[in-house]
Amino acid sequence: MSKYTVDERGYYGQFGGAYIPEMLYPNVEELRQNYLSIIESADFKKEFDLLLRTYVGRPTPLYFANRLSEKYKTKIYLKREDLCHTGAHKVNNTIGQILLAKRLGKQKIIAETGAGQHGVATATVCALMGMECIVYMGKVDMERQKPNVERMRILGTKVVPALSGSMTLKDATNEAMRHWINNPTDTHYIIGSVVGPHPYPDMVARFQSVISAEIKSQLQSEIGNPFPDYVFACVGGGSNAAGAFYHYLNDEHVTLVGVEAAGKGVDSGESAATTALGKIGVLHGSKMLLMQTLDGQVVEPHSISAGLDYPGIGPMHAHLFDVGRVKFVSATDDESMNAGIELSRHEGIIPAIESAHALAALKQFEFAEDDVVVVNLSGRGDKDLETYIRWGKY
Ligand SMILES: *Cc1c(COP(=O)(O)O)cnc(C)c1O
Repeated sequence: MSKYTVDERGYYGQFGGAYIPEMLYPNVEELRQNYLSIIESADFKKEFDLLLRTYVGRPTPLYFANRLSEKYKTKIYLKREDLCHTGAHKVNNTIGQILLAKRLGKQKIIAETGAGQHGVATATVCALMGMECIVYMGKVDMERQKPNVERMRILGTKVVPALSGSMTLKDATNEAMRHWINNPTDTHYIIGSVVGPHPYPDMVARFQSVISAEIKSQLQSEIGNPFPDYVFACVGGGSNAAGAFYHYLNDEHVTLVGVEAAGKGVDSGESAATTALGKIGVLHGSKMLLMQTLDGQVVEPHSISAGLDYPGIGPMHAHLFDVGRVKFVSATDDESMNAGIELSRHEGIIPAIESAHALAALKQFEFAEDDVVVVNLSGRGDKDLETYIRWGKY
């Protein structure tokens, strides 16, 4: 379709593929053979669109941020993914995947979660569809993210602690994989970002692409031109950015900016700035850019925002970085917290700290007065209140 989307072998340039244990091959292959025909069918589209509209609350507004625009002397629009049901863009993907799972005849859902946001989005759609759900979560993460554990339990999901290794996200992923290998016929594994073996990155990007489809038509009706000058989005695994960029990838005059978490500074040893520090490597089933030691061990990432605390970026973004289509920059913990407070004070919107990274990057650019700058506000700050309070400078 485009030099920026996945090829027929499941690669984006040199990144992607399906590096999975042989035992998992039948599961992934079933998905690969069926996903496109299912999600392009009229019947799927109808149900997906209806739920996005009546359950998620789409289209989300494209809001002209008046006071922020004045401050930055340009025209800033916020794409309000924070107004989605459950408070972030992640539900766009979980709705898509559960509808797909139903059509594949699956009765059970599994997922892994780090901070719990993807777990909650998955638990939500399982309750919606009356499907059994197990979420694997590192024991350490369960202690750190109690409210999300309880949210999942209220929704009827079984949260299983991962007790191996560092008892965090990667261990939860291992447990989920193990479960999937043992239950290939009745279970679908919902991955939460544009990562994992092919076809997951492409599938998740397609579900999230509703974001840029809406931005296009909203800008068209708002200003008579579907093309902004810039689109900014934060990048953890990369799904909200993939969605915000998707329908602009071939429009080279639109500058696309991905913002990674620089943690305490890119060179501090405590960051998640993958494009600055990463090398090509394999994690979670695909070739991507990865922060790793010289002998290939994954480096523990750091970010104040749990959603950006991931040691790699998915294959699509790795490729977009490689060929220079997307400009990658980073914002530190402090810069992002300040940007979160700035948005709160200027627009009455408390953003998720992930989204605050995208806002923080505005300071690194010189905009013209009539530039149109879209920032994808991936989520709301309710879940981050404790982090704001602990940070304290407001
Ligand atoms: C999970 C999350 C992210 C990071 O994930 P991506 O796949 O990179 O989008 C960003 N913002 C919010 C609000 C999140 O919950």
